[in-house]
Amino acid sequence: MGSVVQNDDNRGCSQGPRRCGRTGIRRGRGRTGIRRGGGRTGIRRGRGRTGILGAFTVLALTALASGCAGGGGGGGGASLRPAAGQQPEKAAPPEAPAARALHAYAGRLRAARQAQVAAARRWGLRKVPLTPPAPPARKPEITTRRGFEVADHEELGLPPVFTTVPTEDRVVFLTVDDGAEKDPAFLRMMSELKIPYTAFLSNFLIKDDYGYFKKMRDLGVTLNNHTLHHPYLPALSYARQKREICGMQEVLRERYGDRPALFRPPYGNYDQDTLRAAKSCGVRYAPLWDEEVFVDHWEYRESDQDLHPGDIVLTHFRGRGEWKGTMPDMVRRFVDKVTSKGYAVARLEDYL
Ligand SMILES: [Zn+2]
Repeated sequence: MGSVVQNDDNRGCSQGPRRCGRTGIRRGRGRTGIRRGGGRTGIRRGRGRTGILGAFTVLALTALASGCAGGGGGGGGASLRPAAGQQPEKAAPPEAPAARALHAYAGRLRAARQAQVAAARRWGLRKVPLTPPAPPARKPEITTRRGFEVADHEELGLPPVFTTVPTEDRVVFLTVDDGAEKDPAFLRMMSELKIPYTAFLSNFLIKDDYGYFKKMRDLGVTLNNHTLHHPYLPALSYARQKREICGMQEVLRERYGDRPALFRPPYGNYDQDTLRAAKSCGVRYAPLWDEEVFVDHWEYRESDQDLHPGDIVLTHFRGRGEWKGTMPDMVRRFVDKVTSKGYAVARLEDYL
């Protein structure tokens, strides 16, 4: 069976810097073509396609940011005063169709932003969540985290096991496991706030209400594999592991139409058989996590007790029966921390 890889440790917390005012406009690395790493501003070159589209986006975002600043945090702000440190909007010639399109686009962005501001207030967030950059055009190369390999991991082309996605984007990814709690408020909250997340489901916990997760899928959430019965996989033979993993692939395909590419082993425990079995039925990635958020605290894998760009965050479908609060309480804790540290929540699948 080879060695068992175990991944269940954690630690505390700290505070950190940086976001772009209340507008929530990210200045770092989006595809605006403008980078603001460590204070130096410069136009990125050599990525192609940033020119006109980039200028267009920058103008639109400037218009949007100005509108938000004028609106004073979500009022109805039609005024376009520039936010501090921002260039005033440069008016394009009024007859140009491009200018009209730009203003329509800015208007849509502004409306979306206002809806998000209202949702943040409604759900009791301390700040409006930051907007993630557009998905990367070139996906990062995902490799297995050092120390998490099984024998012949690469040679056999087994799914990479990782806790963080290599990216400079100031984003983290939320993953929600198991499926016991089926709180309709959670679905509403996430969709109103437009917070993306990825689910890892175990059949014995979801089979009393497949419909709940169908709604989730219809809201754009990917439903992934977390085995049929949530066993400690390394204790099982290859054949039984395969039944657990590939059996769940079939349940997901039958119920929701797709055989997912992502699989997370229960408890983060796996061996070579696990990954071979998973690969045999279409699994391409085995994401673990770098932090776990509970309703009342965080636990960190790294000794710096902090978030990092590309970190995968774990939480669970749990309710008052299992922890002191609701799913929305947990989401508040998660989003408030992430936002206060200058991170946006992005969609994991967009980076794979
Ligand atoms: Zn689990």
